[in-house]
Amino acid sequence: MTRRSIRAPLAWLGPGRLVDDARVVLERGLVVAAGPAAEIAGTDDELRLDGFVMPAVADRHVHIGMSSPAGVLAGGVTAVRDLGWPPDLIFTLADASELPSFDGPLIRAAGPMLTAPGGYPTASSWAPPGTGREVKSPEDAAAAVEELARLGATAIKVALNAEAGPTPSDAALAAICDAAHVADLPVAAHTQGKGEVERALGAGVDELAHTPWTPLSDQVIAAAAARLRIVSTLDILSFGRDTPEIRAALDNLRRFHVAGGTIVYGTDLGNGDVPPGIHTREAQLIREAGLEREEVLATMIRAPLEVDAPADLVALGANPLEDLAVLSDVRTVIRAGRVVGR
Ligand SMILES: [Zn+2]
Repeated sequence: MTRRSIRAPLAWLGPGRLVDDARVVLERGLVVAAGPAAEIAGTDDELRLDGFVMPAVADRHVHIGMSSPAGVLAGGVTAVRDLGWPPDLIFTLADASELPSFDGPLIRAAGPMLTAPGGYPTASSWAPPGTGREVKSPEDAAAAVEELARLGATAIKVALNAEAGPTPSDAALAAICDAAHVADLPVAAHTQGKGEVERALGAGVDELAHTPWTPLSDQVIAAAAARLRIVSTLDILSFGRDTPEIRAALDNLRRFHVAGGTIVYGTDLGNGDVPPGIHTREAQLIREAGLEREEVLATMIRAPLEVDAPADLVALGANPLEDLAVLSDVRTVIRAGRVVGR
């Protein structure tokens, strides 16, 4: 692939790097230079973009099988992490998505959710058979993690949904976390029901797959901020309405942020009316949790545009550091150095 450059009147390359008249040079799917155009040589093949350039978005909680990969990519999201789908389907799709010519985002996947026999989501109407993998003992749980690691999982998802059925025992949960950490994989938990966030914390879970929507004490929030990160998924709690769930979640997330916790953008795409592509209302809700606009963008991007980062970027019609609503105005998407749709 030849070297090509992008030039734009204004670009946000990553936190603290807002650049007028910017140039980004791309080669073999990676960024090889990014900064002021005056300091970086252009290429014969330079694409001039109007408006505002920033890194493309990564959605760290999706169920891509219930959405449109092409729509996700066209909407400015060049990488997703699938947190629950049958392994025979999702790992095949993830492999296919590695090709830059794939008409969709790069897909990373957890495979199925590990759960107790009869636990969530084995009886959920949205979940095809195999979306939940029932683990019967700590040994079985550890074996399931090892098998998923061999299949290419990039995270392990565990269902701690006490409102929808039984959950893995403390011993099984500990075995899941231990086996995942041996395989260098993070554990993401769906926590729902009284005491489940506390169980996740105690077992060494690395992420909450959703902002919890039941009130948490300051003590639990402080422990969570020190030990794990939260995937936002705020809009699924309200879809633009005012609900007790969104109020509780925003209160939890505000205190988590103040306590120094790490928040990453995720939409739970596939759940309800979440649109494919950048979900502006999710970004606006993260801002409501007290983050500055630049901090919101930092939760959303795949990686800052710097040397050796993926050559994934978007051009918007205007500057989202002034108004996040322009995240809906995606003009151009580039994945792995290729302009999408051309
Ligand atoms: Zn989900």
